[in-house]
Amino acid sequence: NPIVAIVGRPNVGKSTLFNRIAGERISIVEDTPGVTRDRIYAHGDWLGKEFSMIDTGGIEISDQPLTTQIREQAEVAIDEADVIVMVVNVENGVTDADEQVAKILYRSHKPVVLAVNKVDNPERRTQIFDFYSLGLGEPYPVSSVHGVGIGDLLDEVIKHFPERSNAQDDQRIRFSFIGRPNVGKSSIVNAMLGEDRVIVSDIAGTTRDSIDTNFKTPDGHEFTMVDTAGIKKKGKLYENTERYALMRSMRAIDDSDVVIFVLNAEEGIRELDKHVAGYAHEAGKAIIIAVNKWDTIPDRDQRTMTDFTNLIRQEFQYLSYAPIIFVSAKTKQRLFKLPEMVLEAYEHHTRRVQSSVLNDVIMDAVAANPAPSLNGRRLRLYYATQVAIQPPTFVVFVNDPDLMHFSYERYLENRIRAAFDFTGTPIHLIKRQR
Ligand code: GDP
Repeated sequence: NPIVAIVGRPNVGKSTLFNRIAGERISIVEDTPGVTRDRIYAHGDWLGKEFSMIDTGGIEISDQPLTTQIREQAEVAIDEADVIVMVVNVENGVTDADEQVAKILYRSHKPVVLAVNKVDNPERRTQIFDFYSLGLGEPYPVSSVHGVGIGDLLDEVIKHFPERSNAQDDQRIRFSFIGRPNVGKSSIVNAMLGEDRVIVSDIAGTTRDSIDTNFKTPDGHEFTMVDTAGIKKKGKLYENTERYALMRSMRAIDDSDVVIFVLNAEEGIRELDKHVAGYAHEAGKAIIIAVNKWDTIPDRDQRTMTDFTNLIRQEFQYLSYAPIIFVSAKTKQRLFKLPEMVLEAYEHHTRRVQSSVLNDVIMDAVAANPAPSLNGRRLRLYYATQVAIQPPTFVVFVNDPDLMHFSYERYLENRIRAAFDFTGTPIHLIKRQR
């Protein structure tokens, strides 16, 4: 998806605009117990064009003076986005900070759309013309709070979306590594490719584009590794901030069919790991968990692996379908297994099952363990069918969806998983009244 970044000095209303555009999308995200959500990255769409959106105001650059923060945020936007929306506040007129941001954006030659926020009443419309002086073209008046002018703004934004690249149209399986800083994502990429691409890609002017590497396994399967983690911009303050790492992971998830979620055996599981994992799960992608730096564990044997596996299962209960592998970028231990695991997860992610077989499974499940009645009424299941892949999605027709308790849904999911191998992929069940 194209990426739209929202920039501007503090308190001009970036987050309000962000939430307004993301709007209903945010609220329809299914609630998964144990998943922590984040508010700096969201999906939007306008007139059928989908995009991802970043609120750069949410990327903290700690302990830095305001001017540095503003500059860094503008640079994140330039590095990451296809289109930048610069937000100003009509109440303040053009400020020094606005000019500073505009100057950086102007020099980048990225498409910039100027949103003049807080134009809540018609009188203020006449004040938007002052903002022509920023040199960013026509100012678009909006009221983020009241939802006015957003359509015109988005009309202009989508005009600047790049054409779809051929890379995204090919049929190769796309996978990427996600995780917090320093878990060893780039090291794994480099070890798999046998070259130091972190340095290769560290060229001034390198844009947001992730580096796609195509490769073939010995048995002839072709993959594309989407390497967003490996593009390091040395010397940038935001590079190692947690929010930035999270944003990078989110983008990699968007761009991939299969994600390899990397944990650091040396440091254990941290809060940020849960953010990353939660987003991958909600995006419905196929997921593999790789525990890296396994070489640092002193007594590594079957027992230490079992202990770490149990810890992961406990901390990421919603990822029970994700296989776990213990690797080391340093010694290259088990890295060769990753491509075959990606392939397997992808096959399950795109798997279609026959309706007749599916219905046998469901009916057997009901016979073995009928749904408990609720207020004297009993759930009836009539028919199930698969309606989508990536992830596999099933519709179950019932007499009353409210009678299907969450735990019964889990039971059915487990029965489906026992009958068909869906290792590595979430599956979705949708209840419909018949
Ligand atoms: P990223 O931020 O996730 O891309 O992490 P990097 O690949 O930059 O690695 C962070 C640090 O961990 C570097 O100093 C690496 O040398 C080190 N590292 C990465 N993988 C391993 C590993 O398997 N074993 C050990 N001992 N160190 C590793």
